[in-house]
Amino acid sequence: MLLFPVVFALNLHWAGSHLYELELLWLIAIAVPLGIVGGDFISGLVHWAADTYGSEDMRVIGPSLVKPFRLHHVYPRDICTHGLVETTGNVCILAVPALAGCLYLMWLMPESLWLSFAVISFALMTAATVATNQFHKWAHQESPSGFARWLQRHHLVLGVAHHKLHHTQPFDMNYCITNGWLNPLLNKLKFFRRLEATLGLFGIETVRAKDAREAAQLKTN
Ligand SMILES: [Zn+2]
Ligand SMILES: [Zn+2]
Repeated sequence: MLLFPVVFALNLHWAGSHLYELELLWLIAIAVPLGIVGGDFISGLVHWAADTYGSEDMRVIGPSLVKPFRLHHVYPRDICTHGLVETTGNVCILAVPALAGCLYLMWLMPESLWLSFAVISFALMTAATVATNQFHKWAHQESPSGFARWLQRHHLVLGVAHHKLHHTQPFDMNYCITNGWLNPLLNKLKFFRRLEATLGLFGIETVRAKDAREAAQLKTN
């Protein structure tokens, strides 16, 4: 968590200085929405995967990823008791090496315009992803700070009513939890249902399908 702001700022500084030298700093206006929407998409994909596949006793990802999301459905308010380290620490463990990798790439290819643009977009996406659990926590708090409420009102972070739909039967929509901007589109496209159907073709079964199959087997026995 302490390293994240350092590598994040270094990435922005190096990549930003390069775009400035090329007089293409305006590209940041494209990188910002791209990074935020990318972060929202990652949050949805990871959340959906943890809600839909695997079990809590899988190695490494079981206790660190699957369990928190499953528990969150049983005790939604539990997230409000998490401190900043518990809320953002797990994501920082992945974000810091990824951003360190970006610094290495920029060191290898300091002249690449597209790398600088990609790095700024990626750095913003990781920042959005790191902040996601905090935004998610605000959506469950009874009385979040005035600043958090302002961000919610302006749809810059996950909205309370919007996220409530995810916690409502049949618990299969609005997976994106950074600001939820992508949810209407992904819901309309039935994106996650189609992804589940595609993975099903490869024999990868959702928890819902597995439970239904086991219940049917019990009945016939
Ligand atoms: Zn969920
Ligand atoms: Zn929630």
